[in-house]
Amino acid sequence: MNVLKFGGSSLANADRFSQVVEIINGVNESHPTAVVVSAPQGITNKLVALTEAISEQNTDALLSDLKDHLAGILTDSFTKYSDINQSETLAAFETIYDDVSRKVHGAELLGHCPEQTYAQIVSSGERFSVMLLGAIFQSQGKSTQKFDPERFIHVKDDAIEPIVEINLTREAFKEHYSEVANLCLMPGFVARDMAGATTTLGRNGSDYSAAILAVCLDANVCEVWTDVDGVYNSDPRLINDAKLLDTMSYHEAMELSYFGAKILHPKTISPLRQFKIPCRIKNTHAPENPGTYISETSAESDDMIRAVTNLPDVAMITVSGPEMKGMVGMASRVFSTISQADISIIMISQSSAEYCISFCVPGSEADTAMNALNIAFDLEIKSKLLDPIQIKKNLAVITVVGDRMQHQRGIAAKFFTALANARVNIIAIAQDSSERTISAVVRAKRLDDATRICHTSLFKKQAAIDAIVIGCGTVGSELIQQILTQSERLAKQNIQLNLIGIANSRQILLKPEGIQASDDWRAELSQQEQGLNLETLNQFSQDAHLLNPVLIDCTSSAEIATQYADYLENGYHVVTANKKANTDNLDYYNRLRTAARSQHKKFQYETNVGAGLPVIDNLQSLLKAGDELIQFEGILSGSLSYIFGEVHNGLSLSEATAKARELGYTEPNPAEDLNGLDVARKALVIAREAGMQLELDDLTVEAAVPEALANLTDADEFMSQLADYDAEFKVLVDKAEAEQKVLRYVAQINDAKITVGIQAVDINHPLYAIKAGENAMAIHTKYYNPVPFVIRGYGAGAQVTAAGLFGDMLKTMSVETSVS
Ligand code: ADP
Ligand code: ASP
Ligand code: MG
Repeated sequence: MNVLKFGGSSLANADRFSQVVEIINGVNESHPTAVVVSAPQGITNKLVALTEAISEQNTDALLSDLKDHLAGILTDSFTKYSDINQSETLAAFETIYDDVSRKVHGAELLGHCPEQTYAQIVSSGERFSVMLLGAIFQSQGKSTQKFDPERFIHVKDDAIEPIVEINLTREAFKEHYSEVANLCLMPGFVARDMAGATTTLGRNGSDYSAAILAVCLDANVCEVWTDVDGVYNSDPRLINDAKLLDTMSYHEAMELSYFGAKILHPKTISPLRQFKIPCRIKNTHAPENPGTYISETSAESDDMIRAVTNLPDVAMITVSGPEMKGMVGMASRVFSTISQADISIIMISQSSAEYCISFCVPGSEADTAMNALNIAFDLEIKSKLLDPIQIKKNLAVITVVGDRMQHQRGIAAKFFTALANARVNIIAIAQDSSERTISAVVRAKRLDDATRICHTSLFKKQAAIDAIVIGCGTVGSELIQQILTQSERLAKQNIQLNLIGIANSRQILLKPEGIQASDDWRAELSQQEQGLNLETLNQFSQDAHLLNPVLIDCTSSAEIATQYADYLENGYHVVTANKKANTDNLDYYNRLRTAARSQHKKFQYETNVGAGLPVIDNLQSLLKAGDELIQFEGILSGSLSYIFGEVHNGLSLSEATAKARELGYTEPNPAEDLNGLDVARKALVIAREAGMQLELDDLTVEAAVPEALANLTDADEFMSQLADYDAEFKVLVDKAEAEQKVLRYVAQINDAKITVGIQAVDINHPLYAIKAGENAMAIHTKYYNPVPFVIRGYGAGAQVTAAGLFGDMLKTMSVETSVS
């Protein structure tokens, strides 16, 4: 015998009924079949609303709406099935409807709806479904046997939630139905209590009815037909790329449904497991698909975590007190108080010192639970043995499920890291002793985000970067270009790189779906009214559910640099070419690092020194390995390197500067290169990296030209006055050359001091052979001595700087990528 259960979504209208009839006929060709049905979609809600309107004597409109809804399904079915016995079917419908109407009016007279009447009313939709299916089969010449669950499904008296007394139920079934036909029908949801009164199995209970019937019939399989292809690793309504699970163990399915997956009533699997009947979840709209097979065996999957699920509305109650440790049986008193109030506890967490017990109950039961506890522990609270009982409402539970999580290290860390990266606060955690589930209590308003982020971090073998580029000058534009052209290549390596924002000094363009290579982003940006600010960006990140937002600063703006700490504190990674933040005062410098550490976010600034050359990275690695910086000497300015190189090729200082300027190697006003300040900032970044507590004012900076020249703010004026200095400068060049030396503009760190200025170096010096335009650094450390560690190469230019920023951007993934 095969048991097939069809949910409300499979019986929403006449078309769906006929789909269901086809599926049943298909199965029934080769197997005896018992069918369990829900009410047509929406009908149980309407019936519940009707019972709630009884106390207000306000049921007429609801009754007639109910009648119209069901009559509509009937009329449409009459059109589809011309052989249906219309008068008999209409009479049967009238009987069902009149029964509801009579009970509603009777309850109105009473002023309330007694429990049994309530159960009879709300389960009428199921009776309707059985009646209509029976009529359709009859029209096809097939007779059906009807099982009445009120005769045999016994619900225990003393349980908080409806639990079926399975042995008694099996006996009663056998007693009433010693002969079973080839095609049988049964309404789901409805049952009897021990005294024989009508009751229900709770909302969504038809799944449970089907499992019970399967057990009574010793069925081969219990198929649950619904509106999705099976069980997914996350709720498919919330996660549009949730993955379908081919197989699951009973345990996994039980935990998943217990912790909120609506696909199955939480009690469904237990009887099937007890009697080893497999369950298959199938899609009514796509019957050819295999669905999800639930049985004893756990899946052969690489994923330790099989699914993530959530319970949206819970409250957490905490009982604590200084004397609690010594109070014997405290936990059992708390829990029996709650159970006597007919409330089920979802999860418990107790501090190891037994100083406090926290547990979650459904949000709708929170106040009842609090009242019960306050009454039960009144004396202890008054005498201060216990603290006042605390409650937190508007919470939710998010749970990861998987048989193979047992005895595996690192699963909880992965789960909690995913939540932390999404900046979701964890209020409490619990793990069941079989280690098949780990649950976290979070604020309800962050639940959807938390679920999405867990799904991506735990299941998608893909790392995400949501890039927001600030500044679209030469470096910014180059970086945007690199991102747009490289994202396809990265996608093949499972890195999803989205350019979701571009900002200039006044405007910001934000696109949740990502900016594409084909977009005219400059035009779109110019139309934006808003500029970059934390609030707008936070709102956007939340709405767009960004997983790993990274701000990339390609400006040299001091104003933006002072906002990095706020961005880091709000969960953004910051990548920057801008040196202003790292050379701001030490307090800010330290705040940036604290913010990054506490938020598990990255602050990357490789391009602060030597553009794309791996200076900071190497230095950090050495220092982490216990090395110490002894001395640093470097040519840190590409433009000065070029100018000094050309001077030794025979050009005058002003000629060399003009050439560099023409080639775009200098700032628009070359005075800003020759004043040495930029080099000083770079040297300070390195010195601070090595642990020196220096401020910019502590540096000795000698400009490459006299102060009066270096301070000129007008480029043309600077260029013309620079020519007047040529002769004086040539003396320096000639003197150096006479001594077989060359002039270099060098930053030196030695003895916790930084000096920046011109030096004449001889052929043995590591900076002697540097070509015009190159950067070079000779790093003397405890390990690299006396021969220094040398880094050399082009340390300027939009392309290499953008490439450096790109590399830094990819480094943000190492925090986020927690692929199982
Ligand atoms: P029926 O009317 O067939 O009883 P339900 O609405 O009760 O259907 O349950 C099916 C729904 O459960 C699906 O449409 C889906 O939105 C939801 N659901 C929640 N979590 C999951 C999950 N992990 N896998 C599949 N479906 C899920
Ligand atoms: N019709 C009932 C409900 O809507 C039972 C079910 O659908 O499983 O809750
Ligand atoms: Mg259901």
